[in-house]
Amino acid sequence: MAKARTVSLPSGEKVAALGQGTWRMGERGAERKREVAALRLGLDLGLSLIDTAEMYGEGGAEEVVGEAVQGRRDQVFIVSKVYPQNASRRGVALACERSLKRLKTDRIDLYLLHWRGNEPLAETVAGFEALREAGKIRQWGVSNFDTDDMEELFAVAKGDACVTNQVLYNLKHRGPEFDLLPWQAERKIPAMAYSPLEIGAFASHAETKRIAERHRATTKQVALAWILRRPDAIVIPKASDPEHVRQNRAALDLALTPEDLAALDNLSPPPKRKTPLSMI
Ligand code: NAP
Repeated sequence: MAKARTVSLPSGEKVAALGQGTWRMGERGAERKREVAALRLGLDLGLSLIDTAEMYGEGGAEEVVGEAVQGRRDQVFIVSKVYPQNASRRGVALACERSLKRLKTDRIDLYLLHWRGNEPLAETVAGFEALREAGKIRQWGVSNFDTDDMEELFAVAKGDACVTNQVLYNLKHRGPEFDLLPWQAERKIPAMAYSPLEIGAFASHAETKRIAERHRATTKQVALAWILRRPDAIVIPKASDPEHVRQNRAALDLALTPEDLAALDNLSPPPKRKTPLSMI
């Protein structure tokens, strides 16, 4: 098993290229033990970045994460997100306090604006910067921002302190490759690819299956390896099933060949023009 790969944030800090998502965790009490165990297994396997949000299970997912990181907080990079309706300067401070309580920690490593709402970006940035100065968050970023949103963000005071943009990017949704990912790469801002496994019919396509079989892997592992080919992408699959967690970790060791990549380009061609960013 190769060592877990890392991706550099603009500060130079390295985080795990393959992390763990938590959407739909914390919604049912009966599942809680299993979800905590899955996240802990992922941490054991080196998937040390955990992505959550105040939205997931209306706080329930943050509580699951809080339980999973007990006794090993220093080994984990926690990402959480604030609702746009809470993204005023004062609102982010209050939302962050609530998240910290649920996460049972004194700091969030990376705090994101979940999507763009009605609050002026300057307000949100001022709120994030105040939280950073107070040590409640270490860094901040955004999610579901298209290129024009990023341009606007970078035009406000301290907007260029943003360290990531978490977006829908997978084999089925390649739009960001056209302009958004190059824009971010120029500024050394990695992307966080969400819903990496939601690739629809490509998961059962004969060509994807052929590639998977050649590597003795599943098509979902191929989908992860395909994103992991990029040095500037952090990938955050969600898995409550321990076997899925193990398979996801193994995808880090799956090196797609130039022939595999060409076949996948054939199946899902890279974008030739701008497509508005999709959102789930
Ligand atoms: P995903 O990670 O692409 O897919 C999750 C689903 O795939 C679950 O049903 C999971 O089942 C299954 N799965 C996991 N590993 C598998 C494997 N190796 N083989 C087969 N199936 C597997 O979708 P997602 O949860 O939408 O996205 C991932 C994370 O991104 C979220 O959890 C969240 O943290 C983040 N996200 C962010 C936004 C945003 O707006 N910023 C939006 C969507 C998602 P089990 O759970 O049963 O293992």
